[in-house]
Amino acid sequence: MKPIIAIVGRPNVGKSTLFNRLVGRRKAMVDDMPGVTRDRNYAEVTRFDRPFILVDTGGFEPETNDRLLQQMREQSRFAMDEADLILLVLDARSGLTPADEDVVEMLRRVDKPVFFVVNKVDGDRQENAAGDFYSIGVDRLYTVSAEHNRGIGDLMDDVMEVL
Ligand code: GDP
Ligand code: MG
Repeated sequence: MKPIIAIVGRPNVGKSTLFNRLVGRRKAMVDDMPGVTRDRNYAEVTRFDRPFILVDTGGFEPETNDRLLQQMREQSRFAMDEADLILLVLDARSGLTPADEDVVEMLRRVDKPVFFVVNKVDGDRQENAAGDFYSIGVDRLYTVSAEHNRGIGDLMDDVMEVL
């Protein structure tokens, strides 16, 4: 069995952009996987010669705030049950929101490696703002720009070490 990495977080933080960035040209959709739902996207990725399954969650925009929280709880539960490692994506441009704090709270109870990824750090200015996210009480934040391919190598080096 290949290890599973799940990408979770509220809508619009850049989960799918990160997914596409990590899948890159080596993208190979896994269609026949049991239990695949339409709001999750699976791909097989190989890094340092090691294959893993990457899962993008939350494929649709929830219409209401209740629905958003419900979707995120479902995603987080899925990630906690099925994944071997979780990437929680946060958004440096919008800052921390109550919805982020909700997921962080859920993930505190998980006995699996969780990487806290602050996305949209396109330059040094956002790098400083990203420090605010330490208020959620984590030892290590990974600042990245999925769009501009910044910080992705450092993140994945550490991910592959614990996967
Ligand atoms: P998702 O809803 O979490 O899957 O987020 P998406 O991947 O669909 O991205 C939401 C928006 O954020 C899109 O307009 C992306 O172009 C933008 N975005 C994603 N990553 C970055 C980034 O690294 N920097 C900036 N500035 N924008 C980004
Ligand atoms: Mg998405």
